[in-house]
Amino acid sequence: MRICSSNTPVADRRIERAEAAYLGLAIGDALGATVEFLTPREIRTQFARAGGVHRELGGGGWLKLKPGQVTDDTTMSLALGAAIIAAGGQIEPLGCARAFDAWMRAKPVDIGNTVRRNLVAFRKTGCPIAPPAEQDAGNGALMRILPVALVTLGRDPPAIEQAVLAQAHVTHNNPVSDATCLLMVRLLRAALRGVALPELYRAEIQPFVETQPQFAFRPRRRENPRGWVVETLQAVLQALLDTDGFEDCLLDVVNRGGDADTTGAIAGMIAGALYGRAPIPERWLKALDPPVAAACRAQARALIALARPWDHSFCYQEPA
Ligand code: MN
Ligand code: MN
Repeated sequence: MRICSSNTPVADRRIERAEAAYLGLAIGDALGATVEFLTPREIRTQFARAGGVHRELGGGGWLKLKPGQVTDDTTMSLALGAAIIAAGGQIEPLGCARAFDAWMRAKPVDIGNTVRRNLVAFRKTGCPIAPPAEQDAGNGALMRILPVALVTLGRDPPAIEQAVLAQAHVTHNNPVSDATCLLMVRLLRAALRGVALPELYRAEIQPFVETQPQFAFRPRRRENPRGWVVETLQAVLQALLDTDGFEDCLLDVVNRGGDADTTGAIAGMIAGALYGRAPIPERWLKALDPPVAAACRAQARALIALARPWDHSFCYQEPA
């Protein structure tokens, strides 16, 4: 099946980057889950025989996972992605809430407190939008943002913002969470069209931190990031900017410990979009749970196909 109307190298490269972002999300989740809630010191001790660095999709962790198994970060993204695809690309709160509710009924291996509380409220009230809450600034809406970023590639900024917030507010109706979701979608869009890291920093990350100083991530190294989305994003941005490749970025972020599956998932999606498929280590692709890997690939292609109008307005030419 031909996905793109114009099967140009640029369009091919975009599909490849979208697949790499989806695989990066799942790989980062599985890699980080092994060390979730450990401190960097505990990780160094536990992986002393591997040079003090955790670097394989070996499972285990507090969830006692199988090697290559993913957690809620990936399975919620896939539940959302499937619902968006089934709705022909439409993203509205009720469809998202029903998808997450069905996901929760299937007894996921883990689930965040904010996600659980607001999905239980949805079951009681039928209202798919969580009440605004200052404390709901966790990373649960950010970790599952990738399918929205892919399917909205052809849309204009107000429509993108509406879609991003429709998905986020089902469980996290909070301005700090919103800001990170909107930033991540801008980063993913730029990376998918071939913008490199220094330009990503200059055009998006630097202005974001300047206008919202609570996200400042220099000079102190962020270790043990909690599920608070500010710390999560600080760890991810440091790891992204302190490395120059997919593997190094993911190893950097998960070895900081804390909410490592989620920092791994978020770093994985942006590093995948930025660096593409080629630098993803074969050993990680082989270890990743095969049905999850297949679903990531299929959803990336389907979401890009639904975003196809983007092709016609797309004028960026990748440097040779
Ligand atoms: Mn998780
Ligand atoms: Mn987590």
